[in-house]
Order: sequence, then C-alpha cells, then structure tokens
Amino acid sequence: MILVGHQLAAAMAAAIVALWLLRSRWTHAHPRAALILWQISGLTLVVSSVGALLGFGLAPFGRGLLPALVDLPLRIHELDLWHLTSVAAGLGLAGWLIANQLLSLRSTARARARHRLLLQLVARPDTDALVVDHPAAVAYCLPGRTPRIVVSAGARQLLTAEELGAVLAHEQAHARERHHLVVAPFQALRRLLPRNKALIKVCSTIELLVEMCADDRAARQRGREPLASALERFHANGAGGTPAGALAVSDTAVQARIRRLREPAAFGFPPAWPLACVVVLTALGTSASLFAVPL
Ligand SMILES: [Zn+2]
Repeated sequence: MILVGHQLAAAMAAAIVALWLLRSRWTHAHPRAALILWQISGLTLVVSSVGALLGFGLAPFGRGLLPALVDLPLRIHELDLWHLTSVAAGLGLAGWLIANQLLSLRSTARARARHRLLLQLVARPDTDALVVDHPAAVAYCLPGRTPRIVVSAGARQLLTAEELGAVLAHEQAHARERHHLVVAPFQALRRLLPRNKALIKVCSTIELLVEMCADDRAARQRGREPLASALERFHANGAGGTPAGALAVSDTAVQARIRRLREPAAFGFPPAWPLACVVVLTALGTSASLFAVPL
C-alpha cells in the first residue's frame, strides 16, 4: 500500500501543478516555461495513474511493479478479485493510452502525407513557402520530416510584405521547434475523450501556448506589430480551414494573441516555476522508479 500511496501523491502533485498552470496569468508571458511544466505534469499523471492501479493490484506480491508483472502469469492464483480487477484496469488503461497515441500518430501522419501529395499537384514553390493559388487567406505549416510552409495567393494579396514576412517567420517557428510533437500527446488524449470538458480546456490551453511560442519567435525576428496586424487582417477576413495535421497562423484565440503582441504583459518570470519543476520532476521520478524498485 506504500507503493499506491506514493503513486497517488505523485498524481496529486502533478494535478496541483496543472491546476496552478490553468489559473495562472503569467503563462501567456512565458509560454515556453508553461509548456515544459504541462508536459512533465501530463506524463506524471499518466504514469502515476497506471502505477497506482498496478500497485494496488500487485501489492500481494510485495515486489516492484515490473518484477511483479513478470511474476504475474505464475502467481496469478494468489490474487483475489479486487487485486485482479485493479491489475486488469491498470494494464487496460496503459494499453488503451498507448494504442490511442499510436493510432492518433498514424492517422495524423496519413492526413499529412495525403496533404503533401495534394500540395505537389496544386502548389508552386516560391522563395520561402509553397504558394497555393486560392483566394482564401490561409497560411500554415505542414509538419513532418520535411516540413512545408504553405501560403495562399489570397494571403499574399491580403498582407503587406512586412506582414507576410512575420507570418512566414511564425510558421517557420512551428517547423523549427517541432510544435506538432508538443501538441500530439494532448490531441490524442482529446481524441480518446472528445467530450471531456477539462481535457478540452487543457488542449486548447496547450495549443494557444504553442501559438504564442511561435508568435514570440516571429516577433523577435520581424517585430511585434507586423505579426499583430497580419493576425488582425486574417481574423477580419475570416481566415481558417486549416487541413488536418497542420498548424495555422490564425486559428487559435486570435484576439488574445493580438493583444499580447501589442501590449506585452508585465509579468516577470514566476519565482514558483523552479519549485514547480522540482515538484513534478520528483513526482515523475518517484512514480517511474516504483515500477522497477522493489519495496
Ligand atoms: Zn501558428
């Protein structure tokens, strides 16, 4: 039971940090720091939830989780119904999460591959992007091993040269910083529980923070105002319709991003951030080590 207690404590620590992130106002000023905490907290919650279920179920063996799982086929008769149910729930949850992540990655990769093929047919290469001859104003990054930055003829017409440069810098930031890998685990979870309001809130928060990271990089290269006015034009023009698996310049909480670019919040780096990092990393380390260390 000590093992279960440790796993539950790790899950609680990660949940407290996640709640703090959801309620904090500094996250928009320091999106990268917030994303680091989100990723560690999310991983900790998953590992410790599976660990708590397996820890309770395999407690009669008195061993670490992995050695106990190896023993399971030979000693399964020693477990009563409650412990067996808990082991089945733990293994089921782990399998469900892993399978869902893999399926989500596969379907996203297929959608991107289809879109890449389509681009070969309809887009023409320009100096820093592929141009699609379409009147709708669209710009997006199609991530992958060879990322593609795509901009429509409508967007080129809509934006000034400075604004277009800022938009392309935003999309290049997505590609360079591999933002699709940051959002992928959370999007896969949302696919698993599409009506879960808490998960919807967390996913939209992560997506917004990713957009803000790309905004910051673009603003450092091209200035804040060209990107803010480009976003404003996209928004006023009703831009949207990003293909599946792509990261667009203007799909997420545009008003908040414009406001942030024009009036940067005066939030200093939160002094509690290093402490929160230590808490979730300790929780994750404890939770993961309990899989191997015998108690
Ligand atoms: Zn973007």
